[in-house]
Amino acid sequence: MAETFDNAGAGLLDPLAGVDLTAFFESEAAVGPEGAADSDATSFDVSPFESDAWFEFSEASAPADAFAELCSALDAAESAQFEVNWAMAAHLDAVARALALAARQPGLYLRGHACAGSDAAELAVRAAAAELSMRLQVPAGTIRTRAHEATVLQTRLPGVWARFVDGVAGYVDARVAVDAAAGFGAGDARLAELDDALSSVIGTVSTARFRQRARTVRAGLERDRLEVRHTRAFAQRRVVVEHVDDGMAWVSLYTSQVDAARVWARLDATARRDVGAADEPRNLDQLRADAAVAWLAGDGTPSAARAEVIVTVPVLSIAGVDTAPGMLDGVGPIDVATARQLFADAPSFLRLAVDPITAAPLALDRTRYRPTKAQRLWLTLTHGRCTRPGCDRLAISADIDHQIDWQHGGATNADNLSPACRGDHRLKHASQFTHTKNRDDTVTWLSPTGRAYTDPPPF
Ligand SMILES: [Zn+2]
Repeated sequence: MAETFDNAGAGLLDPLAGVDLTAFFESEAAVGPEGAADSDATSFDVSPFESDAWFEFSEASAPADAFAELCSALDAAESAQFEVNWAMAAHLDAVARALALAARQPGLYLRGHACAGSDAAELAVRAAAAELSMRLQVPAGTIRTRAHEATVLQTRLPGVWARFVDGVAGYVDARVAVDAAAGFGAGDARLAELDDALSSVIGTVSTARFRQRARTVRAGLERDRLEVRHTRAFAQRRVVVEHVDDGMAWVSLYTSQVDAARVWARLDATARRDVGAADEPRNLDQLRADAAVAWLAGDGTPSAARAEVIVTVPVLSIAGVDTAPGMLDGVGPIDVATARQLFADAPSFLRLAVDPITAAPLALDRTRYRPTKAQRLWLTLTHGRCTRPGCDRLAISADIDHQIDWQHGGATNADNLSPACRGDHRLKHASQFTHTKNRDDTVTWLSPTGRAYTDPPPF
């Protein structure tokens, strides 16, 4: 981002040559998992160039050619934004068409026996979503969400869709509109009212204000249904863990405002009790975070977490001879100090020391149909995730799939086994995708459309 600006505005920025401008452009970047969307909010309603006052100001303080260059950079930024919006609408439309086609013609993806099943359309849609997921490196769930968004916009909010296709409205705002339409059936007369209200403001105010507006319009349309909406939303409550850089992660809890307020009140009171004490160096944020972790993990209670999180640590690192990093299953490398500590005294972790040269953990039992615990462990460790390219589900909760089916002579040894999440395991047997396990342990999925997909080897 900084680079583009530097090039486009080279003439303007000469006095700043060599100055790192990154901080200027990133200073408003959102930090949390939420909020990134709002920082993109754009307002087109006022153009500074139409104001006479600016010219008076400019004569006194900047040359005319600099002003012209500024105008051209601003125009370029604006028209590129319109193109991004238009292109995203085109993308959504194409995704929706591909999935709808698969639903109408399951035989495009499924084998004969699977086409006859009552869930053939659903399986075929899943196959099409898997294919796009592999092409675009986007989770299959996201692909299906986009198809759903396109369908809602095209069939229920045609006014909003038109603004999106025109490039006036952005994807983030379009999604806000889709959310606002949730729960209104296709024939619901209130949809037209909602569409009118939203399409008249979308793209003319910031995302935050548009969201507020959408909420207000929606509430007005269903004064008597707020409770129903809350009940439906509350049924979606969940906890999400998102791994980010520097060995950190976000734990997000989606719950009712009342429960969130109770949680916050207790965390805050606990932190305020301790902050500022003579032997307490942590600030309020840190104290609240530490208290939340301790309570959620159940530290010191009989129900303390016993999840099977796998940590591998090279033997020499444990002994302190080497500093090769450990691996947290499905997440990636963790620093040696943390790995060593987990290995030494964390009973809730499944620990495995690996050979420092080959990283091979265990000898395997190759004689039975069911994978042994050791094989399952080994496969989980070597793959980390589901082996369908582009799928991010953790291997530890996946099925162990026979690459060549057991009934077709496939052996239960590690060469013929690979983890596949439940959905992809099912898809593999029902669809015409063919699969090859490669020497480097990756699996290639060949689509009936002729395209082959392979992820790079894990880690
Ligand atoms: Zn999967």
